[in-house]
Amino acid sequence: MTQTIDPRPETEICIIGAGLSGLALAKALRAAGRKVRLLEARDRVGGRVLSHHGHDLGPAWIWPHNRRMLALLDQLGLHSFAQHATGRLVFEDASGTIRRDLNFATMGGALRVLGGLSAVTEALGAEMADALTLGCHVQRVIETADGVTLFTNQGDVHAARVVLALPPRLAAGLGLAVPDAPTWMAGHAKLIATYPTPFWREMGLNGDAISHLGPLAELHDASPGKGPTGALFGFARVGAARDPGFRAAAIAQLARLFGPAAAQPTDVIIKDWSTDPLTATAADLIPPPDHPTYRALPPRRRLVFCGTENAPEDGGFLEGALAAAEAAYGDLMRHPD
Ligand SMILES: Cc1cc2nc3c(=O)[nH]c(=O)nc-3n(C[C@H](O)[C@H](O)[C@H](O)COP(=O)(O)OP(=O)(O)OC[C@H]3O[C@@H](n4cnc5c(N)ncnc54)[C@H](O)[C@@H]3O)c2cc1C
Repeated sequence: MTQTIDPRPETEICIIGAGLSGLALAKALRAAGRKVRLLEARDRVGGRVLSHHGHDLGPAWIWPHNRRMLALLDQLGLHSFAQHATGRLVFEDASGTIRRDLNFATMGGALRVLGGLSAVTEALGAEMADALTLGCHVQRVIETADGVTLFTNQGDVHAARVVLALPPRLAAGLGLAVPDAPTWMAGHAKLIATYPTPFWREMGLNGDAISHLGPLAELHDASPGKGPTGALFGFARVGAARDPGFRAAAIAQLARLFGPAAAQPTDVIIKDWSTDPLTATAADLIPPPDHPTYRALPPRRRLVFCGTENAPEDGGFLEGALAAAEAAYGDLMRHPD
């Protein structure tokens, strides 16, 4: 007896990447009754959104004009709080001279999410659990006459339409001709130091520092929105986190900037995004000097572009990840086949 192979795609819409953009799109499509499958290479959802015990190792801030992010927090029953901005900034010049007399907060007005931003992506991931496959690394994407075939480490997947909810530089690695765009913040690393209390506030400092000496270039208060504990975070100077002496040099720098208590953190967490192949490529080792202008790529018949680097507005930001999801949703609903 001969067996006929069913040529019809087994999945209606397959989304590659369960970062904020892919998750938000999957949620919207499911709410509209569409059949969705979400493939994620990591063993967790969130992509660049990553919190460790509530401390944000990727993005930390949203802004009051981020209407999509604020609406999503509301929908998920999550809460924002103001970035701590009371007190003076510390400035260290290249010769090691330190000033603590500048009454200025560089991120005043920004908002953070109570419990960390992963609360957002984990809540979305939980809603999508039955459509989500973690640890599924898409290695190649091929458009065929009747759909798209994805070659993954867990076998082939056929879909009528595929959404690329990942940075363009990673999409290019799947065999697709995609115009280059830098992956926002992919070349950066963050260090978080936690303390029993935010002791710098007692010293009249707001936790902000700008330094031209040492491995951390820009620092901020990262204390949780609730409870007695304190935290500081610093963005590493480009490439500095790849140095084996990074951690010790950063703690010494914290002590210079905020006093001897800063030399005794209860925990130090480091995330170097530049060495994470599910975010950064070799081209991202040198970050762009300014925020790039991102442009949305028009959808193809079977391939739809999503992800913050493909946002019609606020590209690079969390808000852009949601704007891109909104645009992809519009396209997929307009062209249902
Ligand atoms: C250090 C840092 C600080 C930042 N600070 C801020 C901030 O304060 N405010 C702000 O608005 N934005 C900030 N950003 C940017 C913000 O993180 C991004 O805009 C947002 O998270 C992008 O979401 P996304 O879903 O578009 O992409 P991603 O989060 O990159 O999601 C892409 C997903 O695709 C998956 N993937 C990749 N390749 C494959 C494959 N081959 N197969 C299957 N899955 C794959 C990845 O694992 C990932 O989960 C920051 C980013 C970083 C790194």
